[in-house]
Order: sequence, then C-alpha cells, then structure tokens
Amino acid sequence: MNKKALEDLNVKGKKVLVRVDFNVPIIDGVITDDNRIVQALPTIKYLIDEEAKVILFSHLGRIKKEEDLAKNSLDVVAKRLEELLGQKVNFVPYTRGIELENAINEMKNSEVVMFQNTRYEDLDGKKESKNDPELGKYWASLGDMFVNDAFGTAHRSHASNVGIASNLESAAGYLMEKELKYIGDTVANPQKPFVAILGGAKVSDKIGVIENLLKKADKILIGGGMAYTFMKALGYNIGTSICEEDKLDLANSILENANGKIVLPVDVVVTKEFKEDAEYRVATYKNLKEDEMGLDIGPKTIKLFKKELKGAKTVVWNGPMGVFEFTNFAKGTEAICEALANMKDARTIIGGGDSAAAAIQMGYREKFTHISTGGGASLEFLEGKELPGVVSLDDALECDCGEDCDHDHDH
Ligand code: ADP
Ligand code: MG
Repeated sequence: MNKKALEDLNVKGKKVLVRVDFNVPIIDGVITDDNRIVQALPTIKYLIDEEAKVILFSHLGRIKKEEDLAKNSLDVVAKRLEELLGQKVNFVPYTRGIELENAINEMKNSEVVMFQNTRYEDLDGKKESKNDPELGKYWASLGDMFVNDAFGTAHRSHASNVGIASNLESAAGYLMEKELKYIGDTVANPQKPFVAILGGAKVSDKIGVIENLLKKADKILIGGGMAYTFMKALGYNIGTSICEEDKLDLANSILENANGKIVLPVDVVVTKEFKEDAEYRVATYKNLKEDEMGLDIGPKTIKLFKKELKGAKTVVWNGPMGVFEFTNFAKGTEAICEALANMKDARTIIGGGDSAAAAIQMGYREKFTHISTGGGASLEFLEGKELPGVVSLDDALECDCGEDCDHDHDH
C-alpha cells in the first residue's frame, strides 16, 4: 500500500490533526499498558521537531450511556503522554465547540493539544462510530492537514479517521507505516520459509486468517483452544476441552485443503477444572480422559513447533498457545515467545490483542521485529482485507527523482 507519508507533508507552522490510538487498558484510573502511547511517540516527536501545531485525538472504550463518559475520559492518557514526551499536553475536555477552537487557534508551533475521547460523540446518535459526515467535516475544519497513526482503528470507518481523511490532505504516521510494512507487506510478500502460528480461543474468530495464510505460508502451527476443534474433527477424544461443534465440518475441509501445511499439537496440558491453580498433567490426544480439558500445549508439541520454526525467515503469530492468564498454563505461550526471540535471522511479528499482551507481559516487548498495536485491525489485515482507515489516506506522490532513486516506492 503506497500511501502519503509524514515526510510528504509540509507541516511547519501548520495545524496538524493526528488521529492516534490511545485506547489503552485502564483499571481504577491507572493505565496498565501504555504500549499504544509509546508506539505513537515517533510521529508526535517528529511533528514537534518540525514545528507543527500538534492536535491529538483518540477514542477510548465505548460510550453508550451518560455513566460511560467519566470513566472513559482521556485526561489520564494526556497526563501519561505528558510524562512520556516531557512536554506540556494541553488537554481540552470537549470534542467540539468554542473552547476547543480557541485552544487550537492560540497554539504556537511545537505545542500539543489533545481533545476529548472522540466517542463522546457516540452518546447522541453514534456520530463518531457511524462516520457522520458533518462531524468528519467539522473536525477537518480544525486543522490544515491530517495524519492517521491509529492502526488499531484502521479496520473501522469512523468520523475521526475516514471522515476527516475525505476532507483534508492526509498521510500515514510512522506507526501506521510500520504496521502496514510489517503486517501488510509481510503477509502479502513474505520472505520464505514463512511459518504462521495460530492459537487463541476459537476457530470461528480466525477462519479468514487460516484461509488467507494457507495461501501464503509454508506451515501453520495451530495451538490454543482452536486446536481442539481440529482434533475432534479428526476423531480424537478431547474431553471437556473448548470446541465449536458447528465448525467440525469446516475444520475437516480446512485440513483436507491444507496440503499438509497444518501442524497440530501432539500433546497437551490437561486439568479437570478451569482455574489458576488446578492440578494438571500432560496428556496425548490418545489418552485424554472424558472429564479433562486441555489448557496448554505440551512439551513434545513445544519441541515439534520449534523444529518447524527452524530456518524460517518470516514468522507471524496470532493467538496464545494456552490459557496464559493462568501461570500453570502459560508455558506453551512463553516457550513460543522464547523461540521467536532467538530467531535472529527472521522477521517475527505478533498480530493479535491477547498474544501481544502475553508477549509484553512475559517481558518480550523488545524481542520481536514488530508487535502490532492492532487487535481487530491486524486480524483483518491477516485475512488479506483492505482497511478503510488506510484506503482513505492520500496515495503516495509520484516519484520525480529519476531512475536512480532509492526511495521506498515504485516507479
Ligand atoms: P488474540 O487476541 O491474540 O487474537 P484470541 O482473542 O483469539 O487471541 O484468544 C485469546 C484467548 O484464548 C485467551 O484469553 C486464552 O485464555 C484463550 N485460550 C487459549 N487457549 C485456550 C484453551 N486451550 N482453552 C480455552 N481458552 C484458551
Ligand atoms: Mg483477543
């Protein structure tokens, strides 16, 4: 996808509207993971350095009723951003109106304004989430140009991304560019061998991903809860493990069309109760008991998956290998983190909200080529879909720098 980049904009002294994805987890008023804020810093710092007037906005959570407003205010996020930037962030607690307009009009170069959660506009008629044309136009009128750095919302067509982009000169920010490069290009043109690892709870969430990756990948290693639907489809007893009965036929047809690319677990960690400190043992599929459920991949499977990963040049991972929220069943997910961290010659990419959270929580934030900030967006990208938040941005300028140009674009 060849979209206009940050450097293609003439930002000095201009009011630059920047859609970021600051939809971070907040528990009791405390941000528990600031990855999305951290990843947006390069774009923000670039604009500050280039003497733009930087106007930031994001959604946070969902706003359905009055009570949702206060707990989804972006003021906490503005404070954290201020700490990370080491610079004042002027937070305006409105999404429109004279106070916001004045704050923007009074900005000096390199100053930062952030306005309130864009979804405050959902309270009255879902204006943000339904891409109300008047709202997109109004927000666009507040600035001179638009930068979209919110990959996490790129699969949605909202007023704060698509709406603004259709009214203003628009470009992709650094984070968006990075996501397009690592999630988009990697899947479209992977360096081979390309191995995908899929897990998570349900097959039904990932059917599109499996089907698209089967076209591109050399191998697909399947762990997590979704493996059991495949195992049951093959006729194994899976006890009380998570299973989608209505997807058994689909699982069979996926396996039939996979040309041996799909690798399933050979052993699993089983327990009788779904809880943190339940007793557990390692079982093969052949000796799993009626009253047992599998909550993680076993040691032989870890070995097998590592063998399959050997020599891979591209690895894309979506979905944890087990119920990593319980330490007893986190070993498979951790082993995959470790295996990928040690693959120095490969591009290693995580796309998926829970898998990204697991890797970061286990201390592997810096160990991958890229950990996507988009849950749903990366999933749709892995399905091979186009993302409206990306499509709506201006196309890259034609290159006029001659035959020898080594810029990152096609002639
Ligand atoms: P991602 O967000 O990375 O795409 P998913 O949302 O598809 O991943 O799946 C994550 C969830 O899958 C986790 O909450 C995890 O506990 C659950 N899960 C993984 N393995 C199992 C299993 N064997 N049984 C039940 N749930 C599982
Ligand atoms: Mg998830």
